[in-house]
Amino acid sequence: MGAWDGPGAGPGAVAPPIYQTSLFAKPSFEEFVRQQAAEHENFVYSRGTNPTVAFLEERLALLEGGEAAKCFASGMGAIGAVLAGLLRGGDHVLFVNTIYGPTTELAAHLERFGIRHTVLTEPTADIEAHIRDDTALIYLESPGTMLMKVLDVPALTTVARRHGIRTVMDNTWSTPLFQKPLAAGVDLVVHSLTKYVGGHSDVLGGAVIGSRDTLREVFYQGHQLFGAVMSAMEASLVLRGLRTLPVRMEEHQRNALRVIDHLRAQPEVVAVHHPYADHDPAEELITAQFSGFSGLLSFELRDGTFARVARFVDALELFRIGPSWGGYESLVTSPLRPTDDPASALVRISVGLEDVRSQIADLDRGFARLADRTGEPADG
Ligand SMILES: *Cc1c(COP(=O)(O)O)cnc(C)c1O
Repeated sequence: MGAWDGPGAGPGAVAPPIYQTSLFAKPSFEEFVRQQAAEHENFVYSRGTNPTVAFLEERLALLEGGEAAKCFASGMGAIGAVLAGLLRGGDHVLFVNTIYGPTTELAAHLERFGIRHTVLTEPTADIEAHIRDDTALIYLESPGTMLMKVLDVPALTTVARRHGIRTVMDNTWSTPLFQKPLAAGVDLVVHSLTKYVGGHSDVLGGAVIGSRDTLREVFYQGHQLFGAVMSAMEASLVLRGLRTLPVRMEEHQRNALRVIDHLRAQPEVVAVHHPYADHDPAEELITAQFSGFSGLLSFELRDGTFARVARFVDALELFRIGPSWGGYESLVTSPLRPTDDPASALVRISVGLEDVRSQIADLDRGFARLADRTGEPADG
């Protein structure tokens, strides 16, 4: 990722120094006033810019192929800065695909400030009929949350551009390595760095990447004023994650494809959701957009009752039960709640970096528990 070339490069530190300081004193009042007038490009106060954080921002911009990036305290900090920072009362946002839950919860909250929204949960490029005179932003997530459906991003951005509407895409699933939304015509990319980029389940972070001009708007309207700032300490943890991102992603991918092949052979599994499982990997929709696949996927268990999902999940020993994903450890969760009664039940797993044979053996423990019906109420 290139050696530290920021302030203090002299002694040759190979790891980026952590600038644990809230402010930066200037040699003269005149210089202070000059730098404060352009706080997005000067180190004045760490709620604005900080050298360690700026080093990470430069790397993320390079990886996504954008001119500039801004980091945030969390993915939601980044998404909130885009929605609240760039929109105004009277604007409408069109969400396409199944979207990360808190993002649409935030959109629902913004209704009270007069910002309206529509969610098209089915992946479609046919959005023309849903674009309104007041549509100011089209927000994409691909693959989508939970069901992992893939959007035709270039087709969507072509429509958006024809209408002069900005597009934002959540690229957390792919990381900046496996998918390049800016090259597909997206204006702004958002990330939760908490997942694969941080990669060790020990840091929260978010980022927005795009053109210099749009990032300036995001900086002054969405970052400075709302204050969801990434600290230098967190930035150094994300930078450490970035160094191993390519090798980790290759391994997550290798493990995930093995797990998917195994899941598809299970009589208890009626569907597996992941771009590699839902599509022929040679299909142009996939080859044109992805240079690799991450390890977050979901599958549907036959006869989806809460009791059966709990039985399966509780039998697992290696897969830990919890939210989030993208770290070393394999994780499992389900959106199913006790009062739901679907025909099949969705289980989401984050395929980790443990030996994949142990992961598969663990999932088999769950399937064996489902097959063993002792202690279950009798049918009928
Ligand atoms: C986790 C996540 C976010 C939010 O990120 P935080 O760092 O938890 O705030 C946004 N989008 C997707 C797809 C996520 O998985």
